[in-house]
Amino acid sequence: MLQNRIDDQLTISRENIREAEGIFLKHLKRVGLKQTGQRSAILRTFLETREHLSIDELHRLVKKTDPRIGFTTVYRTLKLLAGCGLASEVAFHDGIARYEHQYNRRNHHHMVCTECGASVEFFSEKVGEIEQEIGHKHHYVTTRHTFQIYGVCEDCRNENGRNEDSRSDDGRKKSNGRRIV
Ligand SMILES: [Zn+2]
Ligand SMILES: [Zn+2]
Repeated sequence: MLQNRIDDQLTISRENIREAEGIFLKHLKRVGLKQTGQRSAILRTFLETREHLSIDELHRLVKKTDPRIGFTTVYRTLKLLAGCGLASEVAFHDGIARYEHQYNRRNHHHMVCTECGASVEFFSEKVGEIEQEIGHKHHYVTTRHTFQIYGVCEDCRNENGRNEDSRSDDGRKKSNGRRIV
């Protein structure tokens, strides 16, 4: 199941893509690799997709652009993208590694339904404040944290309770990301 996510910007501009490509290129040079057509196709597809993607899902998408791109290339490219901060791994309920692009994105957290795997992205200043506070208290300079909420979504609760249509009142389909603040 694709995991929807929210972004500050709904689409990514050409300029943004060029900038991200620049970051990637620098990183490739640093680790002694060359930019290839396949690697940049993977990056572009990844940036244009607003979902939390497993390697498999991204592979399926990039094959539409270039059927010759193999699974291993996608896997390695994602690792490289993570290495330069353009991608990060998100762990949901099923143990499958998913990736989301971090280019121009605000730090956010996820809430995951343990029944169907739907996820919600949310921003919370409070979590960041706690990080600062604890760090300060113990004389650490903090760099990051992980925080994830697990639960059962409304649709799954409705399904379990009564055998009704799995959509909720507003017609929202399962797995749609929602913004909560
Ligand atoms: Zn996310
Ligand atoms: Zn659910």
